[in-house]
Amino acid sequence: IEVRIEREGRYRYRIPRHGAMRVDAIFYASPAIARDLEAEGGQALQQLVNVATLPGIAAPAVALPDIHWGYGFPIGGVAAFDPRKGGVVSPGGVGFDINCGVRLLCSDLTRDDLEPRKEALADALFRLVPAGVGSERRELRIGAADWPHLLTRGARWAVERGLGDPDDLEFIESTGALPGAEPDRVSARALERGGSQLGTLGSGNHFLEVQYVEHVYDPEAAEVFGLFPGQVTVLIHTGSRGLGHQVCQDSVDRMLAAARRHGIELPDRQLAAAPIESPEGQAYLGAMAAAANFAFANRQVITAYAREAFARVFGPGSSRLRVLYDLAHNNAKWEEHGGRRVLVHRKGATRAFGPGHPDVPAPYRAVGQPVLVPGDMGRYSYVLAGTAGAMAETFGSSCHGAGRRLSRSQAKKVARKNDAVAALKRQGILVRAATRATVDEEIPEAYKDVADVVEAVEGAGLGRRVARLRPLIVVKG
Ligand code: 5GP
Ligand code: MN
Ligand code: MN
Repeated sequence: IEVRIEREGRYRYRIPRHGAMRVDAIFYASPAIARDLEAEGGQALQQLVNVATLPGIAAPAVALPDIHWGYGFPIGGVAAFDPRKGGVVSPGGVGFDINCGVRLLCSDLTRDDLEPRKEALADALFRLVPAGVGSERRELRIGAADWPHLLTRGARWAVERGLGDPDDLEFIESTGALPGAEPDRVSARALERGGSQLGTLGSGNHFLEVQYVEHVYDPEAAEVFGLFPGQVTVLIHTGSRGLGHQVCQDSVDRMLAAARRHGIELPDRQLAAAPIESPEGQAYLGAMAAAANFAFANRQVITAYAREAFARVFGPGSSRLRVLYDLAHNNAKWEEHGGRRVLVHRKGATRAFGPGHPDVPAPYRAVGQPVLVPGDMGRYSYVLAGTAGAMAETFGSSCHGAGRRLSRSQAKKVARKNDAVAALKRQGILVRAATRATVDEEIPEAYKDVADVVEAVEGAGLGRRVARLRPLIVVKG
């Protein structure tokens, strides 16, 4: 990369504004991750520099340690735009899987309770939670009359149909529905694609994982979140399926035309953007919020299926599977930062609001928002708490995962040398997958070590470790 990078601390780097950049860019990395970023030729960092050229961007353009190359904007990036300074909205800054996210459920069971029924639970989950590229759940087809409610009410729509508890909603980011959804902006094609996919995981990187709490770093915060050592948890990762993908697809050409019309210079066509207040910007935001609500509903329906699987295996009422938190990592949201109302794009990045913020659920408010950080199916995942540092530096944001290290084809080559499913089984991890190919593309080696990512996040003061979770059962698309 041809740009000057200034190291500002052990985990923090700055790319000072130059050329067409309107603001500085900041990225966070451990020494090992910084070396890798350089080794891959700085492509992801170049994308961060490109983002910093967009109109109305509020300083700084941010990348978290799980940064890697993405469509236009890097994955692991945060960019906030000020509507009073000509700020823009860009579908590439949200991503194709609109409102993709993770939801953590906690059981009352311990690892020892689970062990004798592990195979049975794996089979029940695989039967009840549809997974795979085109996975469908036909009995939940959505009628024309349902769509406006589903797309504006999100998770609440599912709860109203008996899929979950009203108590679940308090523990979902934005209580499970983004405001401003305009179902009429969602194309017939998008509805058609999504219609049979509510309550399905989808493919590849999406999963449902049964885990246990292997280590508690912060006993007080863990208690507030309801976590204890040995406890069985369930992590669900999925998004808005074909519906969100189509909404993004539909917007791409329109946004490119809008950028031209509004005289926005784009260093890369994939950054296509329109002023927030323009008709094109408003249309995208209305459709995006609707797709986001589909994703919230999707994770809510899958939660109901997971509860059903636990009830079948352990007996009804044996374990409630409480929602600890549901956190999205691909969206654009209105938030107040430094006294300004800005549109915060997070793409492969999550909220990490600190203690005292009114958007943190009341029972957690003293500790900060739970930040859920999946790692990979062989090692571990983390629960962090949001911090004041994140509020001050990253528009209240943190990392969303480990981030890819190998491309899918590279991962397949590595996987071919050993039987990934058998290797995981030897470590006590049961895998149930729609296809062998997905497992090969998703082997642990395909991802960075999330411990490295979390070290950088905590070291930079953007999150605080609360607990580490180990996989027991993985259902993959
Ligand atoms: P993304 O949304 O960008 O596809 O991925 C989110 C993160 O999930 C990835 O960066 C990776 O760290 C993590 N991940 C992918 N597959 C698995 C899995 O099977 N189990 C766990 N615990 N994490 C995973
Ligand atoms: Mn996704
Ligand atoms: Mn995701």
